[in-house]
Parts: sequence; C-alpha cells; structure tokens
Amino acid sequence: MDISGKELAKQFQEKLKEKISREKHSITLAFVLVGKDPPSQAYVRMKERACSEVGIKSLKIELPDETTEFELLELIGNLNSDPSINGILVQMPLPSQINEEKVLLTIDPDKDVDGFHPFNVGKMITGDKHAIIPCTPLGVLKLLEAYQIETKGKHVVVIGRSNIVGRPLANLLSQKRAYGNATVTLVHSHSKDLSNICKQADILIAAIGKPLFVTKEMVKPGAVVIDVGINRVNDKIVGDVNYSDVKEIVSFITPVPGGVGPMTIAMLLENTYLLAKEQNCSLS
Ligand code: NDP
Repeated sequence: MDISGKELAKQFQEKLKEKISREKHSITLAFVLVGKDPPSQAYVRMKERACSEVGIKSLKIELPDETTEFELLELIGNLNSDPSINGILVQMPLPSQINEEKVLLTIDPDKDVDGFHPFNVGKMITGDKHAIIPCTPLGVLKLLEAYQIETKGKHVVVIGRSNIVGRPLANLLSQKRAYGNATVTLVHSHSKDLSNICKQADILIAAIGKPLFVTKEMVKPGAVVIDVGINRVNDKIVGDVNYSDVKEIVSFITPVPGGVGPMTIAMLLENTYLLAKEQNCSLS
C-alpha cells in the first residue's frame, strides 16, 4: 500500500491554515538564497507557495554567488533582531567561500525553523518535548503515526547518516517516545554487508541520494519502506528505492514524488507556526 504524503500534507496544511487564521499576529518566514542554483531556487519557490497557502508571509532575500561569509552573517544578525521575522531559513548548499556551520550557528535558535542549530539539535537528542525537530525526520514520524505503523520493538534500519535526515531520524526512532522505542541500525557508505542488514528491517528508511539503490533483494517481505531520496534522472524525479520492484513485496511504501517530500514542506510550516507562537507568547 502506498503511504500518501501528499494527501497527509494537504490535511496538515488545511488544519494549520485554520489555526493561523485565528492568530492575532501575522507570521513571517525569511528565506535566504545565495546564488543561482536551480534546484535551490525551485525548493524555495515551492516552500514560499506553501507558506502563502496557509497564511504565512514570506520574505525572500536573494544574494549573489559572490556574497561573502561576513555579509551573510551580518544579514542573519539583522533578521535575528527583527521582531517582524519569526523564522529564518537559509537554503543549502551555500557557495564554497561560506562556512555552513558558522551560518547555522548564527541563526537565532528561536527562529531556527529547520532545527539545525546545535542548541536545537541538543534539545532534540535529549528528548526535550519542546524541541524543534528537523522537517524531514518529523515528516517521516508523522507519516508513520498517520498510518499507525508501530515502531515500538521493531527493527528499523536507516540508510544514510546526514545531520538533516538519517542521524536525527535514527535518534528519534530510538527514543523513549511515541513512534520511537525501536531498535535502530544506522548504516552508511562504510557499512559492510549492507544488503543483509537491510533485509532484517521491519521498517527500512532510505536517505542516501542514490537513485533506485534499494532493490527487492534488500527488503524483507512485508516490511515498511520509507524512501526519503529525491534524485533527478533524465528529467524525472526518482527515489533511493526501486519503487516498482520493491512495491510488490512490502506492506507499505512511500512513493517518490508524493511521499516524504510534501511532508517535509508541511513540517516546515508547522515549525514556523510553533516558533511564532512561542515568540508571541513571550511578547504578551
Ligand atoms: P547526504 O549526501 O548528506 O547523505 C547521504 C548518506 O548516504 C551519507 O551518510 C552516506 O554515507 C550514505 N551513503 C551514500 N552512498 C551510500 C552507499 N552506497 N551505501 C550506504 N550508504 C551510502 O544526503 P541527505 O541526507 O541530505 O539526503 C539524502 C537523500 O534524501 C537525497 O536524495 C536528498 O535529495 C533527499 N532529501 C529529501 C528530502 C525530502 O524532503 N524528501 C529532504 C532532504 C533530503 P557517508 O556518510 O558514509 O558518506
């Protein structure tokens, strides 16, 4: 059965739109885009559109490729101190002259909609209930919850250990929490016998960035497969999982597109709303 992230994201956004319409204060998310990377431009456009659909204002700041680190950090400082800005998203990747870590550290943790600031990462890892959780891992948890896919006691294998997807997901799924309590194996490019490990998974999550990497031979019949990958192949978007091959033997699978991607955007809106609520509460 397909897990429709598209449908679930729509439902989330409708509920969020209603909540936002009842807010006294307007909510604004600032997007900072450095350079002319076409996929980054497309992602920001998609996120802006989603913001406008739920009633979040967006402020897009486009900077040239040759922007210096100092200029970007100065801009972030200004956005941090601007009370009309509730959230800040700096679209990655950044040009090579800019240190991404420094950028993440400069964003005020209270405006960090991506949940990438080490302060927020620390809160998440220690299981703080009010932590801002990175959008893609949060989207995956919401998908599992919506389809009542229990994780307690299950063996979850996460392929990929990036700070934005694999590592936080593996941490969250192993926490003592609803849709946690799983036995988690995190594998990466140095893992041995990957195929065999994947085959032991009750829930297999692929976040690799390699088109159609996961094949039927790597999946246990009846398993749940979550495909985070977004790869462009000959003008088509495909996941990290060979969907048509794997679909035949699994109980649930997320398609690409239409699976995790729309949930990532919905969770960005949710995080923006949550941060704005906290800021407005501390003002009143
Ligand atoms: P990264 O490139 O940062 O990380 C990829 C991970 O996969 C690394 O840990 C790497 O291992 C591992 N890996 C690469 N090759 C292999 C291999 N042959 N065997 C085992 N592990 C391997 O990618 P991201 O986490 O940022 O993104 C992963 C995918 O998810 C991409 O396709 C991206 O576009 C997509 N994505 C989708 C989102 C959505 O909303 N659906 C949001 C964010 C990302 P190592 O650490 O050893 O190098």
